[in-house]
Amino acid sequence: MDNVLSSKRARAKSSEPAPSVRPTRAEAEDAVRTLIRWAGDDPAREGLRATPGRVVRAYEEWFAGYKDDPREYLKRTFEETGGYDEVVVLRDIRFESHCEHHMAPMIGRVHIGYLPRNRVVGISKLARLVEVYARRLQIQEKLTAEIAAALDTVLKPHGVAVVAEAAHQCMTTRGVHKTGVTMVTSRMLGVFRDRAETRQEFLAAIGMRGGVNGNGAG
Ligand SMILES: [Zn+2]
Repeated sequence: MDNVLSSKRARAKSSEPAPSVRPTRAEAEDAVRTLIRWAGDDPAREGLRATPGRVVRAYEEWFAGYKDDPREYLKRTFEETGGYDEVVVLRDIRFESHCEHHMAPMIGRVHIGYLPRNRVVGISKLARLVEVYARRLQIQEKLTAEIAAALDTVLKPHGVAVVAEAAHQCMTTRGVHKTGVTMVTSRMLGVFRDRAETRQEFLAAIGMRGGVNGNGAG
């Protein structure tokens, strides 16, 4: 009880959001034991004894994105275009994320396009940008928008286009049990929003003619 009160007080005083009052590793492992009991099993059982430790370590990987600020990272790594003024497209960047509604995996691909003004970034940097945002609790719409906004702020291009396609395990393994369904979200900024030809050029490059829309549940 005292612990609960003091952590609440700490949260109220801090200007940081809740993650600043990070539980200890032991507390996180206890929470996993509680979920195992909730599922109906015995966390003291031989096969499950090391599970809480493994789950907590897996969380460190799956949610490593909270530690990084992709904008800072991009700011350090852009390069001058050297006069290149055509659309840059990077397609099929695989990502693994977790939906913030069920904490279930959502796995898919992101396609990124931008029309540089005078700054470009390397392929590995774009992949890293996707990874940092994916390794957080997400909804696909927000993931798509965050990637686009980060590129737009740092590179200040003529436009940015981001399309994400993902399968959500909260849909395929529970609830409506819809297998084979992929959700598609998109964010178009600048020339990709304003000029149909530029948008079409991008969609054709990623193998998506016609339109995409950003509606759907996470
Ligand atoms: Zn979900």
